[in-house]
Amino acid sequence: MPFEHSFARELAGLYQPAMPAPVPAPRLLFLNQELAQQLAFPLPDGEGAKAARFTGQTLPEGAQPIAQAYAGHQFGGFSPSLGDGRALLLGEWRAPDGGLHDIAFKGSGRTAYSRSGDGLAAVGPMLREVLIGEALHAMGIPSTRALAVAATGEEVYRDRTLPGAVLTRVAASHLRVGSFQYLAARGRFDELRQLLRFTLQRHYPALQDHPEPELALLRAVSEAQARLMAQWMNVGFIHGVMNTDNMALSGQSIDFGPCAFLEAYDPATHFSSIDRHGRYAYGNQPGIAQWNLARLAETLLPLLADPEGPQGAMDAAVAQVTAVLDEFPTHFDAALRQGQAAKLGLAQPDAALADAWLALLQQGGADFTRAWRELAAAREGNETPLRERLAGTPGLDDWLSRWRAACSASPAQLRAANPAVIPRNHRVEEALAAASEGDDLRPFNELLAALRRPFDEDPALARYWEPAPAAQTACYRTF
Ligand code: AMP
Ligand code: MG
Ligand code: MG
Repeated sequence: MPFEHSFARELAGLYQPAMPAPVPAPRLLFLNQELAQQLAFPLPDGEGAKAARFTGQTLPEGAQPIAQAYAGHQFGGFSPSLGDGRALLLGEWRAPDGGLHDIAFKGSGRTAYSRSGDGLAAVGPMLREVLIGEALHAMGIPSTRALAVAATGEEVYRDRTLPGAVLTRVAASHLRVGSFQYLAARGRFDELRQLLRFTLQRHYPALQDHPEPELALLRAVSEAQARLMAQWMNVGFIHGVMNTDNMALSGQSIDFGPCAFLEAYDPATHFSSIDRHGRYAYGNQPGIAQWNLARLAETLLPLLADPEGPQGAMDAAVAQVTAVLDEFPTHFDAALRQGQAAKLGLAQPDAALADAWLALLQQGGADFTRAWRELAAAREGNETPLRERLAGTPGLDDWLSRWRAACSASPAQLRAANPAVIPRNHRVEEALAAASEGDDLRPFNELLAALRRPFDEDPALARYWEPAPAAQTACYRTF
Protein backbone atom coordinates (compact mmCIF):
# COMPACT_ATOMS: atom_id res chain seq x y z
CA MET A 1 0.00 0.00 0.00
CA PRO A 2 1.49 3.37 -0.97
CA PHE A 3 -0.64 5.25 1.59
CA GLU A 4 -1.36 4.22 5.14
CA HIS A 5 -4.46 5.40 6.98
CA SER A 6 -3.73 4.79 10.63
CA PHE A 7 -5.43 8.03 11.77
CA ALA A 8 -8.63 7.12 9.89
CA ARG A 9 -8.49 3.56 11.17
CA GLU A 10 -7.73 4.25 14.82
CA LEU A 11 -9.47 7.56 15.47
CA ALA A 12 -12.86 7.08 13.84
CA GLY A 13 -14.52 9.82 15.90
CA LEU A 14 -12.04 12.50 14.96
CA TYR A 15 -12.74 13.17 11.28
CA GLN A 16 -15.22 13.28 8.42
CA PRO A 17 -14.48 12.03 4.91
CA ALA A 18 -14.56 14.73 2.23
CA MET A 19 -13.44 15.20 -1.35
CA PRO A 20 -11.47 18.04 -2.95
CA ALA A 21 -13.68 20.48 -4.84
CA PRO A 22 -13.59 20.69 -8.64
CA VAL A 23 -11.72 23.75 -9.94
CA PRO A 24 -11.89 25.41 -13.35
CA ALA A 25 -8.28 25.82 -14.46
CA PRO A 26 -5.52 24.02 -12.53
CA ARG A 27 -2.02 25.36 -13.08
CA LEU A 28 1.13 24.24 -11.28
CA LEU A 29 3.01 27.10 -9.57
CA PHE A 30 5.52 25.24 -7.42
CA LEU A 31 6.74 21.69 -7.14
CA ASN A 32 9.23 20.59 -4.50
CA GLN A 33 11.22 18.13 -6.60
CA GLU A 34 13.78 17.49 -3.87
CA LEU A 35 11.09 16.62 -1.33
CA ALA A 36 9.13 14.48 -3.79
CA GLN A 37 12.29 12.54 -4.50
CA GLN A 38 13.17 12.12 -0.84
CA LEU A 39 9.66 10.78 -0.16
CA ALA A 40 9.60 8.75 -3.39
CA PHE A 41 6.22 10.37 -3.92
CA PRO A 42 5.01 9.54 -7.43
CA LEU A 43 4.42 12.46 -9.81
CA PRO A 44 2.19 12.11 -12.84
CA ASP A 45 3.78 12.88 -16.21
CA GLY A 46 3.18 16.29 -17.77
CA GLU A 47 2.34 19.73 -16.41
CA GLY A 48 -1.41 19.32 -16.85
CA ALA A 49 -1.54 16.04 -14.97
CA LYS A 50 0.59 17.51 -12.17
CA ALA A 51 -1.67 20.56 -11.92
CA ALA A 52 -4.71 18.27 -11.75
CA ARG A 53 -3.03 16.13 -9.09
CA PHE A 54 -2.03 19.04 -6.86
CA THR A 55 -5.45 20.67 -6.96
CA GLY A 56 -7.06 17.35 -6.06
CA GLN A 57 -8.76 16.87 -9.43
CA THR A 58 -7.12 13.46 -9.52
CA LEU A 59 -6.03 11.61 -6.41
CA PRO A 60 -2.84 9.61 -5.97
CA GLU A 61 -3.40 5.86 -5.73
CA GLY A 62 -4.60 4.84 -2.29
CA ALA A 63 -5.50 8.33 -1.06
CA GLN A 64 -8.59 8.54 1.19
CA PRO A 65 -9.24 12.21 1.97
CA ILE A 66 -10.54 13.11 5.41
CA ALA A 67 -11.05 16.37 7.28
CA GLN A 68 -9.79 16.19 10.87
CA ALA A 69 -11.75 17.51 13.83
CA TYR A 70 -10.07 19.64 16.47
CA ALA A 71 -10.82 22.39 18.95
CA GLY A 72 -8.60 25.24 20.04
CA HIS A 73 -7.94 28.30 22.09
CA GLN A 74 -7.81 31.21 19.66
CA PHE A 75 -6.26 34.33 21.21
CA GLY A 76 -7.10 32.88 24.61
CA GLY A 77 -10.77 32.06 23.94
CA PHE A 78 -11.87 28.44 23.59
CA SER A 79 -13.61 27.21 20.42
CA PRO A 80 -14.79 23.63 20.97
CA SER A 81 -15.47 23.02 17.26
CA LEU A 82 -12.81 23.96 14.75
CA GLY A 83 -11.39 21.29 12.45
CA ASP A 84 -10.09 21.20 8.89
CA GLY A 85 -12.36 23.79 7.33
CA ARG A 86 -10.25 24.00 4.22
CA ALA A 87 -7.80 21.14 4.53
CA LEU A 88 -7.84 17.41 3.75
CA LEU A 89 -5.52 14.65 4.85
CA LEU A 90 -4.94 12.30 1.90
CA GLY A 91 -3.19 9.73 4.05
CA GLU A 92 0.14 8.92 5.62
CA TRP A 93 2.99 8.34 3.23
CA ARG A 94 5.71 5.86 4.10
CA ALA A 95 9.03 7.25 2.80
CA PRO A 96 11.91 4.99 1.77
CA ASP A 97 13.72 5.87 5.02
CA GLY A 98 10.78 4.44 6.96
CA GLY A 99 9.44 7.83 8.11
CA LEU A 100 5.69 8.39 8.01
CA HIS A 101 4.46 11.74 6.65
CA ASP A 102 0.99 13.25 6.45
CA ILE A 103 0.20 14.42 2.92
CA ALA A 104 -2.53 17.05 3.08
CA PHE A 105 -4.23 19.63 0.92
CA LYS A 106 -5.01 23.14 2.10
CA GLY A 107 -7.52 25.24 0.16
CA SER A 108 -9.22 22.25 -1.47
CA GLY A 109 -12.81 23.23 -0.72
CA ARG A 110 -15.44 23.03 1.99
CA THR A 111 -15.69 20.25 4.58
CA ALA A 112 -17.97 19.38 7.50
CA TYR A 113 -15.87 21.83 9.57
CA SER A 114 -15.96 24.87 7.26
CA ARG A 115 -18.58 26.76 9.28
CA SER A 116 -19.05 30.03 7.35
CA GLY A 117 -15.71 29.68 5.51
CA ASP A 118 -15.40 29.05 1.79
CA GLY A 119 -12.83 26.26 2.17
CA LEU A 120 -10.48 28.06 -0.19
CA ALA A 121 -7.02 29.57 -0.09
CA ALA A 122 -5.30 32.26 -2.14
CA VAL A 123 -2.09 32.02 -4.16
CA GLY A 124 -0.15 34.51 -2.01
CA PRO A 125 -0.61 32.87 1.41
CA MET A 126 0.02 29.38 -0.02
CA LEU A 127 3.28 30.50 -1.64
CA ARG A 128 4.14 32.14 1.69
CA GLU A 129 3.84 28.70 3.32
CA VAL A 130 6.38 27.42 0.78
CA LEU A 131 8.89 30.17 1.54
CA ILE A 132 8.61 29.99 5.32
CA GLY A 133 8.65 26.19 5.52
CA GLU A 134 11.65 25.87 3.19
CA ALA A 135 13.50 28.68 4.99
CA LEU A 136 12.98 27.13 8.44
CA HIS A 137 13.90 23.70 7.13
CA ALA A 138 17.09 25.03 5.52
CA MET A 139 18.03 26.64 8.85
CA GLY A 140 17.64 23.26 10.57
CA ILE A 141 14.37 24.14 12.32
CA PRO A 142 11.67 21.45 12.36
CA SER A 143 8.87 22.51 10.03
CA THR A 144 6.13 21.21 7.83
CA ARG A 145 7.04 21.67 4.17
CA ALA A 146 5.22 22.34 0.94
CA LEU A 147 5.27 19.64 -1.70
CA ALA A 148 3.38 21.69 -4.28
CA VAL A 149 1.22 24.72 -4.90
CA ALA A 150 -1.20 24.84 -7.81
CA ALA A 151 -3.46 27.69 -8.85
CA THR A 152 -7.11 26.76 -9.27
CA GLY A 153 -8.23 29.38 -11.77
CA GLU A 154 -10.95 30.25 -9.29
CA GLU A 155 -11.45 33.61 -7.61
CA VAL A 156 -11.32 33.79 -3.82
CA TYR A 157 -13.19 36.61 -2.09
CA ARG A 158 -11.35 38.22 0.83
CA ASP A 159 -11.17 41.97 1.40
CA ARG A 160 -10.59 41.90 -2.34
CA THR A 161 -10.68 39.28 -5.08
CA LEU A 162 -7.63 37.01 -5.16
CA PRO A 163 -6.52 34.11 -7.32
CA GLY A 164 -7.15 30.73 -5.63
CA ALA A 165 -4.64 27.96 -4.98
CA VAL A 166 -4.21 24.62 -3.29
CA LEU A 167 -1.16 23.80 -1.18
CA THR A 168 0.04 20.23 -0.70
CA ARG A 169 1.66 20.02 2.72
CA VAL A 170 3.97 17.39 4.15
CA ALA A 171 3.89 17.13 7.94
CA ALA A 172 5.17 14.70 10.57
CA SER A 173 1.49 14.70 11.46
CA HIS A 174 -1.37 17.14 11.97
CA LEU A 175 -1.94 16.09 15.58
CA ARG A 176 -2.17 19.24 17.67
CA VAL A 177 -3.04 20.41 21.15
CA GLY A 178 -6.51 21.13 19.77
CA SER A 179 -6.97 17.45 18.79
CA PHE A 180 -6.84 16.52 22.48
CA GLN A 181 -9.03 19.47 23.40
CA TYR A 182 -11.74 18.34 20.97
CA LEU A 183 -12.23 15.00 22.76
CA ALA A 184 -11.65 16.32 26.28
CA ALA A 185 -14.26 19.07 25.83
CA ARG A 186 -16.81 16.39 24.94
CA GLY A 187 -15.92 14.06 27.80
CA ARG A 188 -14.96 11.33 25.33
CA PHE A 189 -12.22 9.88 27.51
CA ASP A 190 -11.89 6.44 25.88
CA GLU A 191 -11.16 8.08 22.55
CA LEU A 192 -8.85 10.52 24.29
CA ARG A 193 -6.90 7.56 25.70
CA GLN A 194 -6.75 6.10 22.18
CA LEU A 195 -5.49 9.46 20.83
CA LEU A 196 -2.82 9.46 23.52
CA ARG A 197 -1.69 5.96 22.52
CA PHE A 198 -1.76 6.98 18.85
CA THR A 199 0.31 10.12 19.43
CA LEU A 200 2.94 8.29 21.44
CA GLN A 201 3.20 5.58 18.79
CA ARG A 202 3.51 8.14 16.01
CA HIS A 203 5.93 10.63 17.56
CA TYR A 204 7.43 9.20 20.72
CA PRO A 205 7.50 5.41 20.17
CA ALA A 206 10.10 4.92 22.89
CA LEU A 207 7.48 6.07 25.42
CA GLN A 208 4.69 3.73 24.31
CA ASP A 209 5.04 1.42 27.27
CA HIS A 210 5.72 4.14 29.79
CA PRO A 211 3.89 3.47 33.08
CA GLU A 212 2.58 7.05 33.10
CA PRO A 213 1.80 7.69 29.42
CA GLU A 214 -0.03 10.99 30.08
CA LEU A 215 2.93 12.54 31.86
CA ALA A 216 5.36 11.00 29.37
CA LEU A 217 3.52 12.63 26.46
CA LEU A 218 3.26 15.99 28.19
CA ARG A 219 6.97 15.90 29.03
CA ALA A 220 7.96 14.89 25.49
CA VAL A 221 5.82 17.54 23.79
CA SER A 222 7.01 20.11 26.30
CA GLU A 223 10.64 19.39 25.58
CA ALA A 224 10.07 19.39 21.81
CA GLN A 225 8.29 22.75 22.04
CA ALA A 226 10.99 24.19 24.32
CA ARG A 227 13.61 23.32 21.72
CA LEU A 228 11.45 24.68 18.89
CA MET A 229 10.79 27.97 20.71
CA ALA A 230 14.52 28.39 21.33
CA GLN A 231 15.20 27.88 17.63
CA TRP A 232 12.49 30.37 16.63
CA MET A 233 13.86 32.94 19.07
CA ASN A 234 17.40 32.51 17.83
CA VAL A 235 16.47 33.28 14.22
CA GLY A 236 13.91 35.99 15.05
CA PHE A 237 10.87 34.05 13.84
CA ILE A 238 7.44 35.31 14.90
CA HIS A 239 4.72 32.75 14.22
CA GLY A 240 1.90 35.22 14.68
CA VAL A 241 -0.99 32.85 15.52
CA MET A 242 0.12 30.50 18.28
CA ASN A 243 -3.39 29.25 18.97
CA THR A 244 -3.57 25.77 20.48
CA ASP A 245 -4.91 24.43 17.17
CA ASN A 246 -1.70 25.63 15.53
CA MET A 247 0.69 23.87 17.92
CA ALA A 248 1.80 20.50 16.58
CA LEU A 249 2.49 17.65 18.98
CA SER A 250 5.34 16.55 16.72
CA GLY A 251 7.36 19.67 17.56
CA GLN A 252 7.29 20.93 13.99
CA SER A 253 6.54 24.53 13.09
CA ILE A 254 3.15 24.55 11.38
CA ASP A 255 0.52 26.82 9.84
CA PHE A 256 2.22 29.95 8.56
CA GLY A 257 -0.38 32.67 8.32
CA PRO A 258 0.64 36.12 9.49
CA CYS A 259 4.15 35.02 10.46
CA ALA A 260 7.17 37.27 9.94
CA PHE A 261 10.81 37.69 10.92
CA LEU A 262 12.22 40.32 13.26
CA GLU A 263 14.17 43.10 11.67
CA ALA A 264 15.33 45.52 14.37
CA TYR A 265 15.64 43.65 17.63
CA ASP A 266 12.74 44.43 19.95
CA PRO A 267 11.02 41.66 21.95
CA ALA A 268 7.67 43.47 21.72
CA THR A 269 7.62 43.11 17.93
CA HIS A 270 4.40 41.75 16.44
CA PHE A 271 3.16 42.25 12.93
CA SER A 272 -0.14 40.43 12.72
CA SER A 273 -3.15 42.64 12.05
CA ILE A 274 -5.38 40.32 14.09
CA ASP A 275 -3.00 40.31 17.07
CA ARG A 276 -3.93 43.77 18.31
CA HIS A 277 -2.62 43.37 21.84
CA GLY A 278 0.60 41.60 20.93
CA ARG A 279 -0.37 38.33 22.61
CA TYR A 280 1.83 36.52 20.09
CA ALA A 281 4.67 39.07 20.02
CA TYR A 282 8.22 37.76 19.51
CA GLY A 283 9.18 37.90 23.17
CA ASN A 284 5.94 36.27 24.37
CA GLN A 285 6.35 33.09 22.34
CA PRO A 286 7.99 30.86 24.98
CA GLY A 287 5.39 31.89 27.56
CA ILE A 288 2.57 31.24 25.12
CA ALA A 289 4.00 27.82 24.28
CA GLN A 290 3.93 26.98 27.98
CA TRP A 291 0.37 28.32 28.24
CA ASN A 292 -0.65 26.08 25.33
CA LEU A 293 1.04 23.12 27.01
CA ALA A 294 -1.02 23.84 30.12
CA ARG A 295 -4.13 23.49 27.94
CA LEU A 296 -2.78 20.11 26.74
CA ALA A 297 -2.15 19.15 30.36
CA GLU A 298 -5.77 19.94 31.28
CA THR A 299 -7.01 17.48 28.67
CA LEU A 300 -4.88 14.75 30.27
CA LEU A 301 -6.16 15.28 33.81
CA PRO A 302 -9.33 13.17 33.40
CA LEU A 303 -7.11 10.30 32.21
CA LEU A 304 -4.84 10.63 35.22
CA ALA A 305 -7.67 10.84 37.77
CA ASP A 306 -11.37 10.02 37.57
CA PRO A 307 -13.15 13.39 37.32
CA GLU A 308 -16.02 11.91 39.37
CA GLY A 309 -13.63 10.41 41.92
CA PRO A 310 -12.22 11.82 45.15
CA GLN A 311 -10.84 15.34 45.04
CA GLY A 312 -7.54 14.17 46.51
CA ALA A 313 -6.74 12.05 43.45
CA MET A 314 -7.47 14.95 41.12
CA ASP A 315 -5.33 17.29 43.23
CA ALA A 316 -2.48 14.80 42.96
CA ALA A 317 -2.89 14.66 39.16
CA VAL A 318 -2.86 18.45 38.96
CA ALA A 319 0.35 18.49 41.00
CA GLN A 320 1.91 15.94 38.63
CA VAL A 321 1.15 17.86 35.43
CA THR A 322 2.09 21.15 37.08
CA ALA A 323 5.49 19.72 37.94
CA VAL A 324 6.01 18.81 34.26
CA LEU A 325 4.81 22.22 33.05
CA ASP A 326 7.13 23.93 35.53
CA GLU A 327 10.10 22.28 33.83
CA PHE A 328 9.39 24.06 30.56
CA PRO A 329 11.37 27.25 31.33
CA THR A 330 14.40 25.17 32.30
CA HIS A 331 14.30 23.24 29.02
CA PHE A 332 13.66 26.38 27.01
CA ASP A 333 16.47 28.24 28.72
CA ALA A 334 18.96 25.43 28.19
CA ALA A 335 18.11 25.23 24.48
CA LEU A 336 18.14 29.01 24.06
CA ARG A 337 21.50 29.42 25.79
CA GLN A 338 23.00 26.50 23.84
CA GLY A 339 21.84 28.08 20.59
CA GLN A 340 23.16 31.49 21.60
CA ALA A 341 26.51 29.92 22.51
CA ALA A 342 26.78 28.47 19.01
CA LYS A 343 25.83 31.82 17.48
CA LEU A 344 28.42 33.63 19.60
CA GLY A 345 31.02 30.92 19.01
CA LEU A 346 31.42 30.03 22.69
CA ALA A 347 32.47 26.67 24.04
CA GLN A 348 30.03 27.08 26.95
CA PRO A 349 26.75 28.99 27.23
CA ASP A 350 27.24 32.42 28.80
CA ALA A 351 23.89 33.97 29.65
CA ALA A 352 25.35 37.28 30.79
CA LEU A 353 27.34 37.76 27.58
CA ALA A 354 24.35 36.81 25.42
CA ASP A 355 21.97 39.09 27.32
CA ALA A 356 24.44 41.98 27.10
CA TRP A 357 24.62 41.42 23.32
CA LEU A 358 20.83 41.47 22.96
CA ALA A 359 20.69 44.62 25.09
CA LEU A 360 23.18 46.23 22.72
CA LEU A 361 21.09 45.22 19.70
CA GLN A 362 17.94 46.58 21.27
CA GLN A 363 19.53 49.82 22.36
CA GLY A 364 21.16 50.31 18.98
CA GLY A 365 18.00 49.36 17.07
CA ALA A 366 20.20 46.93 15.14
CA ASP A 367 18.96 44.49 12.56
CA PHE A 368 18.88 41.16 14.43
CA THR A 369 19.99 38.90 11.57
CA ARG A 370 22.74 41.18 10.19
CA ALA A 371 24.23 41.91 13.58
CA TRP A 372 24.62 38.23 14.45
CA ARG A 373 26.02 37.49 11.03
CA GLU A 374 28.57 40.29 11.29
CA LEU A 375 30.18 38.53 14.23
CA ALA A 376 31.84 36.23 11.65
CA ALA A 377 33.56 39.19 9.96
CA ALA A 378 34.50 40.56 13.39
CA ARG A 379 36.09 37.19 14.17
CA GLU A 380 38.20 37.61 11.02
CA GLY A 381 39.36 40.98 12.34
CA ASN A 382 36.90 43.14 10.40
CA GLU A 383 34.77 44.81 13.05
CA THR A 384 33.76 47.70 10.81
CA PRO A 385 30.31 46.42 9.71
CA LEU A 386 29.33 45.68 13.29
CA ARG A 387 30.76 48.94 14.62
CA GLU A 388 28.85 50.87 11.95
CA ARG A 389 25.63 49.05 12.73
CA LEU A 390 25.97 49.73 16.45
CA ALA A 391 27.67 53.12 16.17
CA GLY A 392 27.17 55.21 19.29
CA THR A 393 25.73 52.37 21.35
CA PRO A 394 27.31 52.60 24.80
CA GLY A 395 29.07 49.49 25.99
CA LEU A 396 30.00 48.19 22.53
CA ASP A 397 33.78 48.30 23.08
CA ASP A 398 33.52 46.63 26.43
CA TRP A 399 31.23 43.92 25.06
CA LEU A 400 33.49 43.27 22.06
CA SER A 401 36.51 42.77 24.24
CA ARG A 402 34.63 40.32 26.47
CA TRP A 403 33.38 38.47 23.39
CA ARG A 404 36.83 38.35 21.74
CA ALA A 405 38.22 36.74 24.85
CA ALA A 406 35.42 34.16 25.00
CA CYS A 407 34.92 33.28 21.32
CA SER A 408 36.62 30.06 20.27
CA ALA A 409 34.78 29.31 17.01
CA SER A 410 36.15 29.91 13.52
CA PRO A 411 34.51 32.44 11.21
CA ALA A 412 33.15 29.52 9.18
CA GLN A 413 31.55 28.04 12.31
CA LEU A 414 30.01 31.41 13.11
CA ARG A 415 28.61 31.64 9.59
CA ALA A 416 27.12 28.16 9.92
CA ALA A 417 25.28 29.26 13.07
CA ASN A 418 24.06 32.67 11.90
CA PRO A 419 21.97 32.80 8.73
CA ALA A 420 22.61 35.54 6.19
CA VAL A 421 19.40 34.96 4.26
CA ILE A 422 16.04 34.90 6.02
CA PRO A 423 12.62 35.49 4.47
CA ARG A 424 12.66 39.22 5.01
CA ASN A 425 9.18 40.61 5.04
CA HIS A 426 9.60 43.08 2.18
CA ARG A 427 11.18 40.41 -0.04
CA VAL A 428 8.42 37.94 0.73
CA GLU A 429 5.72 40.51 -0.01
CA GLU A 430 7.45 41.53 -3.23
CA ALA A 431 7.67 37.91 -4.40
CA LEU A 432 4.07 37.12 -3.46
CA ALA A 433 2.73 40.25 -5.11
CA ALA A 434 4.51 39.46 -8.37
CA ALA A 435 3.20 35.90 -8.33
CA SER A 436 -0.31 36.73 -7.26
CA GLU A 437 -0.98 39.98 -9.09
CA GLY A 438 1.37 39.76 -12.05
CA ASP A 439 1.61 36.02 -12.63
CA ASP A 440 5.38 36.49 -12.46
CA LEU A 441 7.02 33.67 -10.48
CA ARG A 442 10.60 34.83 -11.00
CA PRO A 443 11.00 36.84 -7.79
CA PHE A 444 9.43 33.95 -5.85
CA ASN A 445 11.75 31.36 -7.41
CA GLU A 446 14.84 33.51 -6.86
CA LEU A 447 13.95 34.20 -3.25
CA LEU A 448 13.23 30.51 -2.67
CA ALA A 449 16.62 29.56 -4.13
CA ALA A 450 18.33 32.03 -1.77
CA LEU A 451 16.36 30.81 1.27
CA ARG A 452 17.52 27.29 0.58
CA ARG A 453 21.14 28.30 1.25
CA PRO A 454 20.73 30.60 4.24
CA PHE A 455 24.29 30.29 5.53
CA ASP A 456 26.14 30.89 2.24
CA GLU A 457 28.26 34.01 2.04
CA ASP A 458 27.49 34.61 -1.63
CA PRO A 459 27.60 38.27 -2.73
CA ALA A 460 25.08 37.35 -5.44
CA LEU A 461 22.56 36.96 -2.62
CA ALA A 462 23.41 40.32 -1.02
CA ARG A 463 20.07 41.91 -1.89
CA TYR A 464 18.39 39.36 0.36
CA TRP A 465 20.62 40.33 3.28
CA GLU A 466 19.50 43.92 3.50
CA PRO A 467 16.95 44.99 6.08
CA ALA A 468 13.76 46.57 4.83
CA PRO A 469 13.75 50.37 4.69
CA ALA A 470 12.91 51.49 8.23
CA ALA A 471 9.71 53.23 7.19
CA GLN A 472 8.44 50.01 5.66
CA THR A 473 9.16 47.97 8.78
CA ALA A 474 7.46 50.44 11.09
CA CYS A 475 4.07 49.92 9.46
CA TYR A 476 4.49 46.35 8.27
CA ARG A 477 1.37 44.24 8.87
CA THR A 478 0.70 40.62 8.11
CA PHE A 479 -2.75 39.17 7.44
P1 AMP B 1 -6.04 29.06 11.13
O1 AMP B 1 -6.15 30.40 11.77
O2 AMP B 1 -5.57 29.09 9.72
O3 AMP B 1 -5.27 28.10 11.94
O4 AMP B 1 -7.54 28.50 11.03
C1 AMP B 1 -8.41 28.43 12.11
C2 AMP B 1 -9.66 27.65 11.74
O5 AMP B 1 -10.40 28.31 10.72
C3 AMP B 1 -9.40 26.26 11.23
O6 AMP B 1 -10.43 25.43 11.70
C4 AMP B 1 -9.49 26.42 9.73
O7 AMP B 1 -9.81 25.22 9.07
C5 AMP B 1 -10.61 27.44 9.61
N1 AMP B 1 -10.52 28.22 8.36
C6 AMP B 1 -9.64 29.19 8.07
N2 AMP B 1 -9.88 29.69 6.84
C7 AMP B 1 -10.94 29.03 6.33
C8 AMP B 1 -11.68 29.08 5.11
N3 AMP B 1 -11.37 29.95 4.14
N4 AMP B 1 -12.71 28.24 4.96
C9 AMP B 1 -13.06 27.37 5.92
N5 AMP B 1 -12.40 27.26 7.09
C10 AMP B 1 -11.36 28.08 7.31
MG1 MG C 1 -4.56 26.32 11.74
MG1 MG D 1 -3.96 28.99 8.73
